Amino acid sequence: MAAAALAPPQVTASAGHHLDFDVIVVGAGIIGSCAAHAAASRGARTLLLERFDLLHGRGSSHGDSRIIRDAYAKARYVPMVHLARRLWADAEAESGYRVLTPAPHLSFGPRSNASLLAALENAGGAEEVDLSMRWGGAIRVPDGYLASVSERGGGVLSATKAVAMFQALAVKKGAAVRDNAEVVAIEKGPGGVVVVRTSAGEVFHGAKCVVTVGPWASKLLRSIAGVEIPIQPLHTLSLYWRVKPGRERDLTAEAGFPTFSCCGGEPPVYGTPSLELPGLIKISCDGGPPCDPDSRDWVAGDKEITERVARWIEEAMPGHVEAAGGPVIRQSCICSMTPDADFVIDFLGGEFGEDVVVGAGFSGHGFKMGPAVGTFLAEMAIDGKANTAAEAGVELGHYKINRFDGNPMGNGANNH
Ligand SMILES: Cc1cc2nc3c(=O)[nH]c(=O)nc-3n(C[C@H](O)[C@H](O)[C@H](O)COP(=O)(O)OP(=O)(O)OC[C@H]3O[C@@H](n4cnc5c(N)ncnc54)[C@H](O)[C@@H]3O)c2cc1C
Repeated sequence: MAAAALAPPQVTASAGHHLDFDVIVVGAGIIGSCAAHAAASRGARTLLLERFDLLHGRGSSHGDSRIIRDAYAKARYVPMVHLARRLWADAEAESGYRVLTPAPHLSFGPRSNASLLAALENAGGAEEVDLSMRWGGAIRVPDGYLASVSERGGGVLSATKAVAMFQALAVKKGAAVRDNAEVVAIEKGPGGVVVVRTSAGEVFHGAKCVVTVGPWASKLLRSIAGVEIPIQPLHTLSLYWRVKPGRERDLTAEAGFPTFSCCGGEPPVYGTPSLELPGLIKISCDGGPPCDPDSRDWVAGDKEITERVARWIEEAMPGHVEAAGGPVIRQSCICSMTPDADFVIDFLGGEFGEDVVVGAGFSGHGFKMGPAVGTFLAEMAIDGKANTAAEAGVELGHYKINRFDGNPMGNGANNH
């Protein structure tokens, strides 16, 4: 596929050195696409570089659906979700696309599980629900489980479409977008300019650079700056199962069926209502085996994950979902896990100081936050600080790179 057209502005930095852009964003998943949109919206001359084809399926942001919910065990994420939700609505209004389908969110898990109880408290307005009565008894949970529903603010995001939306909005605001452009080096040039080099030998000069390369973050940051950030890519699966005949409508978003997730119980399943593929429902499971995003075998661990989810369906949704024949569709994806499952949102530091900003390690829960995190990264690059985070009550101190210095577990508990 041909690279997207690019006409870089030719400007000169105050020190007299050639500067192509104010902000160069590396990596066009949801986070980088949102950062490029936020930077361009603030008047910065912005370039977004993507290693593969735009909207490819080799990273973390592709596919049909992601859950947005505010039932978070870690209270620090709640204001971030609220900000993100406002920004999702703004982007939908600006683009005319619809990417968020509202849905209630059902959380369930062992009644005494601290993470579940914290998530329900943090969600605000979450109420215990009798699953034998709700949604036609479609979901059952074991004795001793608590099930609770948040009626407001949750939903399903159309993932690939949402990434495309932010790329289109970034271009509309004047950003240049280039795909098939693999960044292999980021250096400090004369006069403090950030020099970004691609594998094809192209060189771009920017005042600032934002690195949002998902599962490639550890590798790229090690090679450009010698910085070690403990981000482990995991091979994960999205699984779509057939809804039993006659039950198709019951499990739809239109009929009010929720997104759902198991918190603190086994297996850690989650699902979205039947929406993007009629007659099918997405039910998957967190986790998967470690993988190298450059040399994947695409199948390791699939049998185990699929069997775990199938067993859960047979116990929890036997009247509504067909598990016996296995999933109808299986899509591979990568989650980039930090040891504490918290994000990395920080300046790179070292010789790059505040000229390079990093957004990485979104640990399987970053999609919903894309517009908020993209805004923080753009403001850190342009203004040196994320005013929007402070205004929204988001404390970015939790997401620093140096939390792992001499402290492999970072912030500690790896729940979200
Ligand atoms: C199966 C699955 C289900 C999930 N469910 C949810 C959910 O329900 N809710 C939720 O909020 N989150 C969810 N997530 C997590 C969410 O999808 C991720 O946190 C998010 O997509 C991370 O986006 P990213 O932009 O950091 O990474 P990516 O999407 O991987 O983007 C990084 C981009 O950088 C590019 N790149 C890499 N190296 C270079 C280079 N050298 N030069 C140029 N470009 C480069 C890559 O090609 C890629 O396009 C889920 C993830 C998975 C895998």
